[in-house]
Amino acid sequence: MAWEFETDPEYQSKLDWAEEFVRSEVEPIDMLWRGLEFTPPDEALRTVVDPLKDQVRAQGLWATHLGPELGGQGHGQLKLSLLNEILGGSSWAPVIFGCQAPDTGNAEIIAHYGTEAQKERYLHPLLEGKLFSCYSMTEPQGGSDPALFETRAYRDGDEWVLDGWKFFSSNARTAAFLIVMAVTNPDVSVYEGMSMFLVPSDTPGIDIVRDVGLAGEPEGHGSHALIHYDNVRLPAEALLGGEGQAFAIAQTRLGGGRIHHAMRTIGLARRGLDAMCERALSRRVAGGLLADKQFVQGYIADSYAQLMQFRLYVLYTAWLIDKHNNYLKVRKDIAAIKVLMPGVLHDIAWRAIQVHGALGISNEMPFHSMLVGASVMGLADGPTEVHKVTVARQVLRDHSAVDDLWPTQHLPKRRDAAREKFAALLEHEVGNL
Ligand SMILES: Cc1cc2nc3c(=O)[nH]c(=O)nc-3n(C[C@H](O)[C@H](O)[C@H](O)COP(=O)(O)OP(=O)(O)OC[C@H]3O[C@@H](n4cnc5c(N)ncnc54)[C@H](O)[C@@H]3O)c2cc1C
Repeated sequence: MAWEFETDPEYQSKLDWAEEFVRSEVEPIDMLWRGLEFTPPDEALRTVVDPLKDQVRAQGLWATHLGPELGGQGHGQLKLSLLNEILGGSSWAPVIFGCQAPDTGNAEIIAHYGTEAQKERYLHPLLEGKLFSCYSMTEPQGGSDPALFETRAYRDGDEWVLDGWKFFSSNARTAAFLIVMAVTNPDVSVYEGMSMFLVPSDTPGIDIVRDVGLAGEPEGHGSHALIHYDNVRLPAEALLGGEGQAFAIAQTRLGGGRIHHAMRTIGLARRGLDAMCERALSRRVAGGLLADKQFVQGYIADSYAQLMQFRLYVLYTAWLIDKHNNYLKVRKDIAAIKVLMPGVLHDIAWRAIQVHGALGISNEMPFHSMLVGASVMGLADGPTEVHKVTVARQVLRDHSAVDDLWPTQHLPKRRDAAREKFAALLEHEVGNL
């Protein structure tokens, strides 16, 4: 029997260290420098952040999303999952541990598909935490359906010329380079006709038209850019992977990205549950503690059960990825986790708000931003509806139609089959069945 639900003591001690470190050293940074996670830090902030990154490196926990064969020091997805759920409750922790989205996914595809020169220029500084990156795929007229993408890249002598619009390109303003997906051959399907480009941010022709914020942020402020790539000229070596390979590359990136979001979501949702329990044990109404009211007990029980189911499924999927070392083989379960994630976070955040009353929905508590986070999880890296279609298609692959009028589970049919199996015995049983 190889099923195990325990962490080995050596890694558990690292997790214990990480938990205490995040609480005492990183969370105070969340309080003072929120929103600057993806901005290259100034000298003053570096004196706070750099020593913390050094401590993480000394523990061997820096940038563990990539395995040694891809230039990281990873321990696999299962261990990353256990670490990420600790980091998920803090906005700065993923940056301090060198495993923040979207840089993790971007590092992963450069590691898989980049040339040595591209790795030298982009991957190594990214892994060292010296710069940030942006993934620029979604367009204003279409995000979930790549067949609607219009941004073009065409050859002009030795160069590529990139032309078009992209929307919701997170952290474009502070990124040192962008990974841009563009149609290079409009005469074939998008699955074969799009290519990926590594584009330094200072390349002439990149126009960040505006930064879009999320609900709750003031209009005009935000980190998701509308970008016009206006005849951006790129050298031939800007192509990442082969021509026409963008779709396959995007799948590599999004597979990892989706489960990493799920791992961090466990940590965020747990924070909501912890707060709910603390409040239930502290607040009195109608002659007793909230913790003694059955509605509140129901909130706590439902939240705990929902979180545990989700966590076990994420850990199981991480284990599957380690086992197969191939995201495509685990596509069904990654998509299923993606489908569950917004609901778990939403439900727990909503209950936490209710239990805290007016304070819960105020801007002095973190629950409303968790609700926004839940909506983000239902859209970023593909909407829930699209992932449900993937799950259903993959599940149906393991089933087949019945070549009979009556379904396999039809009881009279099964009973007839059972009678036939035991016919010899039944012949001697008078009045049986
Ligand atoms: C916080 C955040 C960060 C993001 N960061 C990035 C980034 O860095 N880079 C990037 O390129 N993109 C990014 N995105 C964009 C994200 O990938 C897209 O929002 C997503 O792919 C959906 O595309 P869309 O918004 O254009 O919605 P649409 O494609 O217009 O879809 C709208 C809705 O239609 C429904 N729908 C779509 N397809 C189907 C279907 N097949 N069946 C049934 N219903 C369907 C769903 O309800 C879906 O939400 C980010 C999004 C968010 C919210």
